[in-house]
Parts: sequence; C-alpha cells; structure tokens
Amino acid sequence: MIIDIHTHTFPDKLAATTIPKLEVMSHTRAYIDGTNGGLKASMEKAGVDYSVVLPVATNARQVQHVNDSSERINERFDETGIFSFGCIHPDYADYRAELARVQELGLKGIKLHPVYQDVNFDDPRILRILDRAAELGLIVITHAGYDVGFPGRVRVTPAMVCHAVKEVGPLTLILAHMGGWRNWDEAEQLLADAPVYLDTSYSLGNLNPLDDGYYKPEDLPMLSQEQFLRMVHSFGPERFFFGTDSPWGDQAENLARIRSLSLTQEEKDGILGGNAQKLLNFPEK
Ligand SMILES: [Zn+2]
Repeated sequence: MIIDIHTHTFPDKLAATTIPKLEVMSHTRAYIDGTNGGLKASMEKAGVDYSVVLPVATNARQVQHVNDSSERINERFDETGIFSFGCIHPDYADYRAELARVQELGLKGIKLHPVYQDVNFDDPRILRILDRAAELGLIVITHAGYDVGFPGRVRVTPAMVCHAVKEVGPLTLILAHMGGWRNWDEAEQLLADAPVYLDTSYSLGNLNPLDDGYYKPEDLPMLSQEQFLRMVHSFGPERFFFGTDSPWGDQAENLARIRSLSLTQEEKDGILGGNAQKLLNFPEK
C-alpha cells in the first residue's frame, strides 16, 4: 500500500488564485493545480492509494472553517482516497475545545506550520497545543526547518523540537521534510534519539524553479541520497513516512526516487505506506 502523508489541496476557486501566489513567493512551480480533483488524478497516475491533506491555518479566525472543510473532504474518502487532517492556530483562544472537536470529527491529526503562523516551535502557545493533542491521541505533523517561501526564517529547528518534546506528554509527532528543511545536518545530529517521526517530503531531488532567474543552478539540489540513506539507517526505517508535498512535489517522481534507493524491499514498503498504515489504519487495498 502506498500512502502519501504530506499533500496540500485547496477548494477549486481558491486553488486557482492561491497556487500562483505561492509560486511567486517561493519562485517554484507547482506540479498540479492544487485541487482535490488534481490530486486524485495524480494518485491514479502514480499508483498512490491514499493521500493525507495537511491544511494550514494562517490565522485564528479560519480554524473552525478549515476543520469543517476537512470533514467534508473525508466524507468522500471512500471514493477519492484523500483524507484530510485538521488544523489549529497558536492564537486560537479555545484551542482545547477545538482540538476535541477535531478528534470528534475523526480527523486523526493536525498540521502546524510555525513559519506561516509566526511562532517558534517551543513557544508556550505551541507546547499547550502539543500537550492537548497528546491527551486526545491526535497525531501532530509540523513543518520543520526553513520554508522556501520565507528565505532565512526558521521557526522549527531540530534544537527547538528537542526542547519541545521534553516539555510535553508522549505524543505522535511527525517532522516534515526529513526533520528540518535545509537543517539536515542538525536534524541528523540531534533527532536520532528524539521521540519523533520524519516525513520524506520535499527532501530528495531538486527544487522546481519558475524561470524567473531567482535561483542559481547550485541552489536547486536538496537533500543528498547519501545523507537520506544514512538518516534512514541511523534513525530506523520504521520512523519514516513517504510524503511529497504535492502540488510542490510530483507523486510519481518521488515514488520512483524512493523505489530506486538502495534499501531492502521491507524498508521501502514500510516507508512508502506500511509505517503510515500502522498509524492511520486506513481500509486495506
Ligand atoms: Zn507542506
């Protein structure tokens, strides 16, 4: 079973305006149109059984609305294979009740994006969310490291993660982008013994630049295969989940990239879906 644990979609109308904006901000090109229909077509083409959508609340006012639309995406899960997590914002006042609602809606987890949410990962407003999520058995997946849309700004460093997990109860915490986008040396040094999972999104391969001349050729490569494999072995392959960051990564390309690595079939099967399935318990395919 192939599960992509890190994707993004928007309602059709919003996608048409949001994706071009994000492309300009990040100077990178999306692979698909960012709609649920576009993601479904990509899954069929690539052979991805399930995709998890990770919504980001960029302000407190939109939290409930976004969680309601996540529930609507999940109503069609049997037909689409697309499952949406919920969201929360660090400034959302009644976070305790909203996270309980996220659990009641069956959204299984939440996405945090401290760069877009303008908060450090070990800030008390994030720690209280982590604690409440732990109490409710909700998975937390967070952006980690730099963000291509916000050059120079890092809100989730491996050191902050180490600090945060010491402050909160036992929690299923997934760090996107192999523990910290372009923070990979620090992630490798600090996170091997931390109680965290990693997703593989936006790590192997190159940025997909707009042709606006912003990036030099040497800016494009991301995490090397050698370091990726070294991390899989030192952390343990059971701690990795396949993710693509679709529409910012191509599902078929990323799948082929993991399949081509020198890992055992068992390790690949776990990373590409088996590990996520233990956590998410989707219907067998
Ligand atoms: Zn993402």
